[in-house]
Amino acid sequence: MTAAVSPADIGSYWLASCDDDLTSRPALSGDATVDVAIMGGGFTGLWAAWYLLQNDPDLSIAIVERQFCGFGASGRNGGWCSPRFPINPAALTRRFGAATARAMLLVQQAMVDEVGQICDEEGIDAHFNPAGALTLARSAGQLPSLRQSFDAYARLGMEDGCELLDADRAREAVHATSVHGALRMRAGGTIHPGRLVRGLARALERRGVRIYEGTEVLQTTAGMHPALVTSGGTIRARRAVLLAGEAYLTAQPDYRRRLIPMASTIMLTAPLGAKQWEKVGWAGGECLSSYVHTTNYLTRTADGRILFGSRGAPYRYASDMGETALRENGNFGWIRDRLTEWWPSLDGVEFTHRWAGYLGIPRDWLPTVHFDAVRRIGYSYGYTGHGVITSAICARALAGLVTGRAPGPHAPYVRKQAPNWEVEPLRWAGIRFVQNAFLRMDVAEAAGRSPPPDASLAKYLGEP
Ligand SMILES: Cc1cc2nc3c(=O)[nH]c(=O)nc-3n(C[C@H](O)[C@H](O)[C@H](O)COP(=O)(O)OP(=O)(O)OC[C@H]3O[C@@H](n4cnc5c(N)ncnc54)[C@H](O)[C@@H]3O)c2cc1C
Repeated sequence: MTAAVSPADIGSYWLASCDDDLTSRPALSGDATVDVAIMGGGFTGLWAAWYLLQNDPDLSIAIVERQFCGFGASGRNGGWCSPRFPINPAALTRRFGAATARAMLLVQQAMVDEVGQICDEEGIDAHFNPAGALTLARSAGQLPSLRQSFDAYARLGMEDGCELLDADRAREAVHATSVHGALRMRAGGTIHPGRLVRGLARALERRGVRIYEGTEVLQTTAGMHPALVTSGGTIRARRAVLLAGEAYLTAQPDYRRRLIPMASTIMLTAPLGAKQWEKVGWAGGECLSSYVHTTNYLTRTADGRILFGSRGAPYRYASDMGETALRENGNFGWIRDRLTEWWPSLDGVEFTHRWAGYLGIPRDWLPTVHFDAVRRIGYSYGYTGHGVITSAICARALAGLVTGRAPGPHAPYVRKQAPNWEVEPLRWAGIRFVQNAFLRMDVAEAAGRSPPPDASLAKYLGEP
């Protein structure tokens, strides 16, 4: 049985301010039978239960969570309700055609509104701010990416939802250093993911869903009477067993190579004063980022803090996912330096929280949603850091498959499995090469130097 991890050990500001005292729910003790048994109390598991009940309010559902609801990426993320799909619009179009790409992006945007609406209806005060998203070019080298992104949306007839800002307008929006331009997306916004995940769990309990925390799934059995064999007893399911473990699925033999756990790291400042905000700009509180290969994501919290997220600890051999490795991750100092590089006026600002978490990356960047009606096992995973909204879309599709609703025409993520990642040590060597090359590419770009000679190989291996 995996050792219990407390919310305080994780350090996530979202868990510390989630409007809920995080008292543990009872663990399962003894056997039970329900219609649908779900492993995982993150967004995927909870949204799956939500949409199952939308489709059939009479279903009996149990959720089994090893730690507590929101323990995983759902209680640790950057708080972006992203209008973007894990695969960028140009690659989506190339892979699935313009009609599917457009439909998928519109679904993504509509789900942002739906999540906001559900929060309103369920009384979940999740600080939803539909401010849109702003991506900055912070070097001349990033400007072509800005233009290419805009063009990709325009080719899909979605140019009304986005706007290119020249350097002056971009600097007016965000007073960071080295701003050369920006792409504004009207859709999307930010949310308090801790309040959302915990509020959603409570909303489900009000509808009769049983949630067992501190209960580890040890084995899954498939067939006419599938079951979750757990540390506290066996839950048999009349209709389906669903696995919603995202990055943590890699610990299960059948899923070991279907995705990799990738760490991402966050630092959070104390609330800034009005004078500090004047120097920072960013009055709209959009989802903020720039075009770097190592990724960055910034969120303005409702109480006026800056969340700065970026690359996490290096990938560990054989997808090892140590919590200690996250806490001892050397990137906290690196992120602190990035924040003051964006806004030198924040030099010496107090950081109150720092944490990290694991997200799941499939080999081809496309999530996977599947329900095997004979084995009665279903799963949804692989959102590559865009799971706040994508998990709801995929969980809705999964719930539809369980309750006999065919997926719509534009859902390529409904498939049996993602291609496998390479075997070790090839996987480790390839991922570490890409992580290292992306960092060198960003350093070169910021310094106005040409990219390192292995940049094309890294992009080929490391981008969708
Ligand atoms: C640092 C970070 C920043 C991110 N930022 C953003 C962002 O700004 N916007 C965005 O859209 N996405 C973001 N993401 C991604 C997003 O948070 C995830 O895609 C999403 O939360 C995945 O939800 P999930 O329910 O599938 O997985 P998780 O939230 O990881 O939940 C899986 C759950 O399954 C449980 N579990 C696993 N194995 C077992 C078992 N054997 N028995 C019982 N329970 C088990 C785990 O304990 C866990 O609680 C970020 C992720 C991270 C880590």
